[in-house]
Amino acid sequence: MKAARLEDGVLHIRELPVPEPGNEEARIRITASGVCHSDLHIVRGDWDGVTSSGSIGHEAIGIVEALGPGAEHFVHVGDRVILGLGGTGGGYWCGACEYCLQGRPRHCKESKGILGTFAEQFCVWARSLVKLPAHLGDQEAPLACGGLTAYGAVKKLLDHHVLPGRPVAVIGAAGGLGHYAVQIATAFGYRVVGVDIGEERLDFVRSLGAAAAVGPEQAVTVATSEFGGCDAALVFATKMAGFDLGLAMLRRGGLFVAVGLPASSEGNFQLNPFEFFFKDPTLIYSAVGNVQDMRELVDLAAAGRVKSHVSRTGSLSELPTIFDELEAGAYLGRAVITDMTT
Ligand SMILES: [Zn+2]
Ligand SMILES: [Zn+2]
Repeated sequence: MKAARLEDGVLHIRELPVPEPGNEEARIRITASGVCHSDLHIVRGDWDGVTSSGSIGHEAIGIVEALGPGAEHFVHVGDRVILGLGGTGGGYWCGACEYCLQGRPRHCKESKGILGTFAEQFCVWARSLVKLPAHLGDQEAPLACGGLTAYGAVKKLLDHHVLPGRPVAVIGAAGGLGHYAVQIATAFGYRVVGVDIGEERLDFVRSLGAAAAVGPEQAVTVATSEFGGCDAALVFATKMAGFDLGLAMLRRGGLFVAVGLPASSEGNFQLNPFEFFFKDPTLIYSAVGNVQDMRELVDLAAAGRVKSHVSRTGSLSELPTIFDELEAGAYLGRAVITDMTT
């Protein structure tokens, strides 16, 4: 089978043996795999301590074609499924520790991620698979990471008592994750103040249902004068300036939800202690979501409330080119590899 492999920081398309599913694993024939910003960071070696060799890709749709022992309890051959859970925790979790029982399997000591969906076939722990209704097409593959990550972040608004109807800033609103967050937060009943750069991207943000769409220069003024400051900021930016902006758009006592992971070279997120004192924000990080979140998101997508915006598709061999385009911000929304065989 064909598969993308990162070898000492260089991306190759290799011919590899077809993997055999292990205990409770299913082998999936991948029909679509989204290109996530995390993949780009891994390929470019942006994150200290993250390996520069191995398989990549962590958001996909495919068909179950073989089962390992015990997997029959969760899926059947022929099922069409979405897989990945954002790559974090989608490979395994113990189900019995305090984090698993709290619905936070990502923090489980035994949790394993997923990497390797840029391949014709891929074996994955069957418990993390979510079945898809037939009318959701393969272009929805990015729901597995981009969509789930946005969904997990919006759900945290409710955990922290930010009520529907309240204004919520989305920083990076036209991007691969932000475009989901605008739709999901709007579906939940929040008034979204979307921030992005350039008229084309702002028009796109408005088309997704945002109450306002502004560039970074006007963002604080608009948030303050039209909304009295935002109750929460969901920060999908991969630059530290976006983190600072999210904090500045908050009203006193607001909720800051960091989602983007800037390159290590961007330095630290800094907070002046007096600003901290006066503004008294709650600062949290939100990473992906769990399998129940994925089921809820699939339901929301099936009901037509959330749609993946895919403006670039290609074959596996085009992956290096697509990474260059992603880095250059050449397209809105997501890219999806829809042909793993060439
Ligand atoms: Zn991802
Ligand atoms: Zn656990």
